[in-house]
Amino acid sequence: MDADLTVPMLLRRARALFGDKRVVARWGDGRLHRSTYLEVLARADRLGGALQRLGVRPGEPVATLCWNHDRHLEAYFAVSSIGAVLHTLNLRLHPDELAYIATDAGDRVLLVDEELLPLLEAFRGRSPIREVIVVRHGDAPLAPGLLDYEALLDAAPPANPHEAREQDAAAMCYTSGTTGRPKGVVYSHRCLVLHSLMLAMSDLFGLRERDVILPAVSLFHANAWGLPYAAPFVGADLVLPGRQLDALTLRRMLAEERVTFTAGVPTVWLPLLELLDADPAAADLSALRLLVVGGAALPEALLRGLNERHRIPAVHSWGMTELAPVGTLATLPSRMERAAPEARLAARLRQGTPGAMLEIRARGDSGLIPWDDVAVGELEVRGPTVSSGYHGIGDTEGRFTEDGWFRTGDVVSIDPFGSIRIRDRAKDLVKSGGEWISSVALENRLMSHPAVLEAAVVAVPHPTWLERPLGAVVLRPGQEVSVDQLKEWIAQAFPRWWIPEALVFVDQIPRTSTGKFLKTRLREEFAGWYAGSQAPAP
Ligand code: AMP
Repeated sequence: MDADLTVPMLLRRARALFGDKRVVARWGDGRLHRSTYLEVLARADRLGGALQRLGVRPGEPVATLCWNHDRHLEAYFAVSSIGAVLHTLNLRLHPDELAYIATDAGDRVLLVDEELLPLLEAFRGRSPIREVIVVRHGDAPLAPGLLDYEALLDAAPPANPHEAREQDAAAMCYTSGTTGRPKGVVYSHRCLVLHSLMLAMSDLFGLRERDVILPAVSLFHANAWGLPYAAPFVGADLVLPGRQLDALTLRRMLAEERVTFTAGVPTVWLPLLELLDADPAAADLSALRLLVVGGAALPEALLRGLNERHRIPAVHSWGMTELAPVGTLATLPSRMERAAPEARLAARLRQGTPGAMLEIRARGDSGLIPWDDVAVGELEVRGPTVSSGYHGIGDTEGRFTEDGWFRTGDVVSIDPFGSIRIRDRAKDLVKSGGEWISSVALENRLMSHPAVLEAAVVAVPHPTWLERPLGAVVLRPGQEVSVDQLKEWIAQAFPRWWIPEALVFVDQIPRTSTGKFLKTRLREEFAGWYAGSQAPAP
């Protein structure tokens, strides 16, 4: 009765009951590799042994810098099974940021895809990483000092089992901070098991043995929404699309593998919808029973297009890295079955009601708001899948209330049935195609240019990326600088996809009564800026 809820417990179930279920993965060289949970778990066992041989101890992080494939999944299973902490690095970040994160986490051992070695070399020297294990798909020789993944597995003894306690850390993932300093979110074994259970509940994702699950999210993003744990737990097949999340690849894999459940951000699904519209008969997606859209607000045109033109049941979800990460789902409750079509559509465009492991409330200027869908306030959440602080720093930023609720930074209204609708964002971030850009970091960079007096960066709607940054810049008297020069200035410090396409010179930046930048005014003023434009891929 008092057995701990641990990742190894969840994997033992997969081994005992679902060993022959499929794991399909697209490798870096484009080949499709087919195996089973039994094979993946056997290899994970040897990876665990190899890591122990490298001296990895319980509680120590093991980093990954990999795309979506079965070797990465092996790391998911192996690391938590020896009591170590899986730390997935986001390969879209700037090397400076990766250096900071790897140092903050204390990463000594890292698993990397061969094709990502140049990225690793750009920050390894500034990190504590000492042991580098390379996942290869070709025969190109490895540089001295690097360990070959397959050779390591061949020579490895089976892992010494480690009985973790449920409160122990099993995984960690960094999330962007508004000041540009990412923070490590730590997931306990208990959190990951309860999150998997929650995903399996029929009013959430309803995951089950007969499902074929394709996470159209990266394994390095917020646990790939918990699917790498939930799929083996319920015994569903798992399809990992490698690095390709483009519409053509997704359409082909969804159709050929007869995928029943998939999940991803809107910017993954918008191009798929375009492809389906262009040639509706090209692929048979009739096996799909649920396509979850989350991570950013679901555009009405996407919902209607998928549902009405292609009969694909798309559903809106909200979540956060700090919640493991799924929080809500907007399925239609039974009381709405006979409601008018517009009311049903409106309900499905909301972010929805919380999953079973989550309590919600929202706080406005004068306290907790009523659930009348009129009052707005910052959403606060609490529950066993909510992280309780950040690695190394706990709660120095005051993200938790005195009575232990987590402040999400999302401004919502709540209807009488507990369905939330996000109205605004209290945090100073831009979410471009599912990836965060820190407005504050961009502002600081712009304001460090000698010709710039002040600068404010806001998120404005964009047709392809849903949001892009826009910078309003005030020049120092008598100074001149071109937009291209400012972009070059930003490019020296940030990845290319951070650079705002729009930098606008203004006479002054609107301010609040307390002298802060009045960003709501800027957002309103420039809301239409990107309409019709096509920014380059972030
Ligand atoms: P992350 O931790 O990177 O997953 O980002 C979490 C944040 O993304 C949330 O706090 C929201 O601001 C935003 N977000 C996630 N899902 C949605 C959604 N369905 N609608 C609007 N914003 C969302």
